[in-house]
Amino acid sequence: MTRERILIIEDEARISQFLERGLIYEGFLVSVAADGQSGLVMARDNPPDLVILDWMLPGLDGLEVCRRLRAGGDVAILMLTAKDEVRDRVSGLEAGADDYLVKPFAIDELIARVRALLRRSAPSSQPEVLRFADLTLDTGTHRAHRRDTAIDLTAKEYELLQLFMRNPRQVLTRDIIFDRVWGYDFGGESNIIEVYVRYLRQKTEIEGGSRLIYTVRGVGYVLREE
Ligand code: CA
Repeated sequence: MTRERILIIEDEARISQFLERGLIYEGFLVSVAADGQSGLVMARDNPPDLVILDWMLPGLDGLEVCRRLRAGGDVAILMLTAKDEVRDRVSGLEAGADDYLVKPFAIDELIARVRALLRRSAPSSQPEVLRFADLTLDTGTHRAHRRDTAIDLTAKEYELLQLFMRNPRQVLTRDIIFDRVWGYDFGGESNIIEVYVRYLRQKTEIEGGSRLIYTVRGVGYVLREE
């Protein structure tokens, strides 16, 4: 098995050394950039499987680096932040980060998140087409279709829709959705699920197509027919 490549973009040497040691010990190939600009150059020249990206960086900040990394490809991005504010997490996720870790954190927690992200971004070995009503989702191409209309999905929209389509007619609680799609609990205060369900509805309720994702007030959401 090839060793997975991780790029750390973090200006605090104390933290990047701590991360580097822990990740090398776990068998990863690790490189380190001390600012966003050199991190982007390193990511371009030697594409990593995952980027650990600090929010507060001199020059280009983490959010901008995240946007540019995302525009350049499909790499998994784990953001580090000292700010424990839901608002920031949401803007980071909208910029394309896959997950968050709030400083200070234990190395075991970071390794667990890294492994979870790498598992999720690994191509699935057996693509299949999930179907519900007139909606289909191809797990190979990550594209959905409603009748004959193709629907492009972002990575998170895809994961959320896949969760619904693998559990049709079952009410999925917010806790389950957080856990399965984001890998942890936001603490119940975030509106991120509402935001993503709204995106999915906008994309799937095309041309007068009926609603498929229903809100179960105070509980969560369910994929069902009218
Ligand atoms: Ca920093």
